[in-house]
Amino acid sequence: MTVTFDNSYSRLPDRFFVRMQPAAVAEPGLIAVNAPLSHRLGLDPDLLAQPDWVAIFAGNAVPDGAAPLAQAYAGHQFGGWVPQLGDGRALLLGEVVAPDGRRFDIQLKGSGPTAFSRRGDGRAWIGPVLREYIVSEAMAALGVPTTRALAAVTTGEVVWRETALPGAVLARVASSHIRVGTFQYFAARGDSEALRLLADHVIARHYPDAETPLDLLDRVVAAQARLIARWMSLGFIHGVMNTDNMAISGETIDYGPCAFMDAYHPEKVFSSIDQFGRYAFNNQPQIALWNLAQFASCLLPLMGEEGPAIEAATASINRLPEIYGDEWLRLFRAKIGLATEEPGDRALIEALLSRMAEGRADFTRTFRGLAEGTAAAEFAAPDAFEGWATDWQARLAREADPKATLATANPAYIPRNHRVEEAIRAAVAGDFDPFHRLNAVLAHPFERCPEAEGYDAAPGEGEVVTRTFCGT
Ligand code: AMP
Ligand code: MG
Repeated sequence: MTVTFDNSYSRLPDRFFVRMQPAAVAEPGLIAVNAPLSHRLGLDPDLLAQPDWVAIFAGNAVPDGAAPLAQAYAGHQFGGWVPQLGDGRALLLGEVVAPDGRRFDIQLKGSGPTAFSRRGDGRAWIGPVLREYIVSEAMAALGVPTTRALAAVTTGEVVWRETALPGAVLARVASSHIRVGTFQYFAARGDSEALRLLADHVIARHYPDAETPLDLLDRVVAAQARLIARWMSLGFIHGVMNTDNMAISGETIDYGPCAFMDAYHPEKVFSSIDQFGRYAFNNQPQIALWNLAQFASCLLPLMGEEGPAIEAATASINRLPEIYGDEWLRLFRAKIGLATEEPGDRALIEALLSRMAEGRADFTRTFRGLAEGTAAAEFAAPDAFEGWATDWQARLAREADPKATLATANPAYIPRNHRVEEAIRAAVAGDFDPFHRLNAVLAHPFERCPEAEGYDAAPGEGEVVTRTFCGT
């Protein structure tokens, strides 16, 4: 199959990237091709599953028209500045234009060392590859803007992570891989010309109605505010919201030690590398603001006279809390069955959340249980729910069709940690069935179906996952 590439990023100046070929692996083996996503891109999934494309996904061949490159970027990691990061274990193969005219990057993650690998091996083991595949596809099915997984392959090679583990490569699709850290890379070098080119590229690609860098900032602030509200409405914790892991497109990117919460707690942290809880669940909106302040400061050199530029940029990022707050309220209203707006709604939602935190109620099951009449059972002390439910019922009496609102707002199935871990464990032992079954369930998160029995359950006592590990 010929895939037509049109590589706009590779037409930017040389200092934006390093051209590289992927490093070949011993024995490419197909794990999965994502059929719906293939169709979305105008590609034939059966052909992507053929040996010549499995070889491409593993990095053993480069398709005609691709222009593989490692992108340069910088970033703040856990608040600390790192002037050069870049694709250390990934290569952008190129861009394809889907039948609807939208442009997508195809990137290989785990494809071997690059100019940016520092001391890393450029590789990935099967765990992070499957985790990203499962969680990013679940996010897409839940309607959250996200990068996607087009395919996953094994390498037939071993990757060393304290112990020997099977290697794998993920073929990732994104509307672009441009990050806050990409802007930071050039801003830190005082390279205003590159900043201008990058801003123009991003505007053309993602925000064509933006006319100025300030417009661009406004758009990115709004996109991120809405994105984080979506995460919060699903109990999702990104885990590593470094500026290099925040996409300018407003898509969720870089699923490392991410997780969906089981029992609700606003201060929940999963990532094993997040010692101080910087990226705890409830901190995410604040961190987005902090990251966007970094983005804003990168754009300042493009915004004219310094004083007014700082003022305008500050006003732009200060709109984040309001946009976020409005979106959060809209989403949570629907989650408790409200299609109309009343002034007391926010307090009603917050009262439920605080009871959930006290009662260690499962986040997803409680909200789903509102429609199914099973929410009380999620609380250590069901009375805590019943007290709230009296106020809730009084409010619902003024709604026309709360059942319909609830049904579309609250998924039954999310990628629960213990299921993700189960799929990874089985895959390491050579059995990919749990991985495929889990993906099949998560493709339809709102529809209960018999094949998905048990997948809505919270982890049993021995199954609770308390820490997730970095994506390497
Ligand atoms: P991340 O965990 O995705 O935020 O990665 C942070 C930085 O470390 C990026 O520049 C990655 O490319 C780089 N990196 C992570 N894992 C590896 C690896 N195994 N080999 C080389 N570079 C890596
Ligand atoms: Mg990253």
